Order: sequence, then structure tokens, then C-alpha cells
Amino acid sequence: MTATMDPARLEQVLAEEEERYRRRTPRSAELAVEGRRSLAGGVPLHWMGNWPTPYPLFMGGAAGAQVTDVDGHEYVDLCLGDTGAMFGHAHPAVREAMIRHARRGATAMLPTADGNAVGRLLQERFGLPLWQLATSATDANRFAIRMCRLATGRDKVLVFAGKYHGSVDETHVVDVNGRLEPQPGVSRNAVDFDRVSAVVEFNDVDALEKALAGGDVACVLAEPAMTNIGIVPAVDGYHDALRELTRAAGTKLIIDETHTISTGPGGYTRAHDLDPDVFVLGKAIAGGIPAAVYGMTEEMAGTLTDYTRKENHGSSHGGFGGTLVGNALTLHVMRTVLEEVMTPAAYDHMIGLASRCEAGVQEVIARHDLGWHVTRLGARCEYLFAPSVPRNGGEAKAARNPLLNATLHLFLLNRGVLLTPFHSMVLMCPATTAADVDRHTAALDEFVGTVLA
Ligand code: PMP
Repeated sequence: MTATMDPARLEQVLAEEEERYRRRTPRSAELAVEGRRSLAGGVPLHWMGNWPTPYPLFMGGAAGAQVTDVDGHEYVDLCLGDTGAMFGHAHPAVREAMIRHARRGATAMLPTADGNAVGRLLQERFGLPLWQLATSATDANRFAIRMCRLATGRDKVLVFAGKYHGSVDETHVVDVNGRLEPQPGVSRNAVDFDRVSAVVEFNDVDALEKALAGGDVACVLAEPAMTNIGIVPAVDGYHDALRELTRAAGTKLIIDETHTISTGPGGYTRAHDLDPDVFVLGKAIAGGIPAAVYGMTEEMAGTLTDYTRKENHGSSHGGFGGTLVGNALTLHVMRTVLEEVMTPAAYDHMIGLASRCEAGVQEVIARHDLGWHVTRLGARCEYLFAPSVPRNGGEAKAARNPLLNATLHLFLLNRGVLLTPFHSMVLMCPATTAADVDRHTAALDEFVGTVLA
């Protein structure tokens, strides 16, 4: 019979782990008190308060696959800044690029030769012919949507239930019995969802066809496999259907590769020959410096350049904003990441270790008869508390267990293993070792043994 996790036992273990955390982290406790005096909520971004710790763990430093806290404890970092540090902390090539360029000035609102090199490298790697920069994946998605609206003259953005694409208003939506409502926890922000949003379940071709039939959807914004509610892989044939149906409906397709870049050096798009109108990639692309890129077809680029032509509008931004976008420092570091860091060899290493992690977690699940499953997308693993791989966001959501998640994460953190706070994602970087992976597997095994004892 499948083992069940008793909530009362989980509460007990959580309380013990909170106590243990308090004993281990006195300096973080002091900084947390200090932080509350000047930062709203005590942290620079409220998400930093969302870890399962009684107060935030303060980072002292990080190198490779390791984070050190301000009390001097070392952690195997399998969160890697929720992908932002996917190619390792303080990667030597990135560090050198930052130092080299610091002497040349950061930003002047003028293009650099590095920018041309970045465009060429992105073209070669991902296949889309023309590129633009943004400061974050959120911004890149917002600009991609704006472009699709310009190209189609339509307003609606279709997303998949359970998605996350950043702080993009149109996407913070759920379908409640046919009514579009703000997603729980996100305020409406004056958005008229009925007019500008549509939402369907992933992997459901009929629902997609129906939603596109009205001819009023400007774009579908999709991760090629969902990654923000656990991993929901695309079923065979779904991407073909998605592309055919969007084309037939005159709807543009934006593929957001911000997380699925774990698949391989050319992302899921190259590995599976996808053919989007717009391609978005953020987070890891400049080694931790805030930056994102979006690639586009010639047709979309024509729409953009037509619209943003100097003589076309009185203001200089056209709604595609960001004074620091494409600055010289960022482009220099991004060029280095593309040339020296995101290499096939790095991916071979990361994917090999992710396979080791997948096998280890699978063994723990089987040994304790947990009725969970583990999925892998290249260098990224995810375990979910349900026996089978979900087909859509709704199924993935049903498999979530916030108490189990929090207890597990705090237990692992207290044993020197960091997982991303919002779900059980385990990510490899080029500096991760087999010993790091095995440490996670052993700590997971210890956790399960403790809770089931
Ligand atoms: N797209 C996807 C798929 C993401 O997972 C995220 C963030 N988790 C974003 C976009 C937004 O990235 P950022 O917060 O860096 O803007």
C-alpha cells in the first residue's frame, strides 16, 4: 500500500526543523530584525520572505554550486536562483567579463559591437532571425505581447492554466466555471480579463481550437513544457497542433523558454524543432545580470520596426521601454555567456547529473512506496506528490501539498541542501558534482524516513 504522510506528523517535524533553523542561524536572525527597520516586509523583494524558514536565510556569498550563509554554513544550491544562476554562481568567465567591462563603462544608450555579436549568436543558437533585448523575462513577455497585438490588431492573450510568465497582468487569470477571475493572491489591477485574456488547460487540443475559433486571440503565450506548477510535459503531437491551430486562426505563438532552456543548448525549441513567431528567454542569459532576449520572425520584426520608426511617433519609446535595456555591460556579459558558458559540454555535464538525480529520487520513491513521481527536463528535475505525470495544470495543482513541501524544504535546508521555495525543482549547473546530487538524494531519503517513522 502507498505510504501516506500524516499531516500531524508533518507539523511536528516542521516545528522541530524551525527550532533547528533558529539554533543554526543567529546572524540571519539579527539581519532579519535589522531588515525590517528599512525594507517593506524586511526583504528587498517580498518573494525572499516566501522560503519555509521562520525568517529569511541571509546569503553571505556563492560560488559554483554552493551558497554560504552569513553564519558560515555551506549549502548545495539546487535552486540556483530559481534558474537565474543556472550556469553557476560567480562563473569564472562571467566574473572576468564583468570586471573587464567595468573599466569601460556600463551604459550610454549607444549600441556596441558586443550587441551585434549577441544577435548573431542568438540567431545561430535558436534559429530566429532577429532579436531584441529586455531587462527581465517579464518585460520580454510584455513586449512580445505588445508586438503580437500590433501585428494582429487583436487584444486577447491566451495562456494555460497553472502557467507563470512573470508579472504580466493579462496572464494572472483563472477560469472559474467559465468566468475569468484574477488568480488567487494577485489583485485585478484594473484588468478586464474577459476582454484581454483567455485560459485553457495544456495538452487539450479541442479546448484550444474552441478558444481560438472566435478569431480574437492575438497570441498564445506558452512554455513548451509547463514548469511552474511542477513539470507538465507536452504530450506527443501537442506542439504540432498548437502551431497549426494558431496559424489557422491568425494567432501568433510566443514560446517562453525562460525555464525550459534546461532542455539543451538551443532550448526546447531547437531540440523539438518548434517554430514560434516570438521566442523569449530571460533569467540565466546574462549570468545573473538582469536581462532577457526575445527573438522574432522577419514578419514580426517588420511590425516592430515599422511601429518604432522615429518618424512614427512623438515619444521615443513606443511602449517598448527600458533605459538600461541592451546596455554595454549586459551585452558584454551576455556575449560571454553565449560563447563560453552555455556550451554543449556544460549541458552534457548538467544533464548527466540530472539523470543521476532522477534515478536517485525514483529509488527513494520506490523504496518507501511513496506514490510520488519525478520528471526531468534536461538539466532540471521535479518531483510531485502524485503517482503519475500530470497532463495539465489542473492535475498538477491537485498534486501539490504545501505542508509537505514546506517541511521537506526546511528539513533539506537544515542539512545543507537548497531547493527552490515554491515547488520541488532540482536544477544542475556546470559546477554541480555527483556528490552534491547524492547529498540531496540521501537527505530526501532521511526526510521520508523521519516523517514515516
Ligand atoms: N517566464 C517564465 C517561464 C518564468 O518561470 C518566469 C519566472 N519564474 C518568468 C517568465 C519571469 O521572469 P522574471 O521574474 O525574471 O521577469
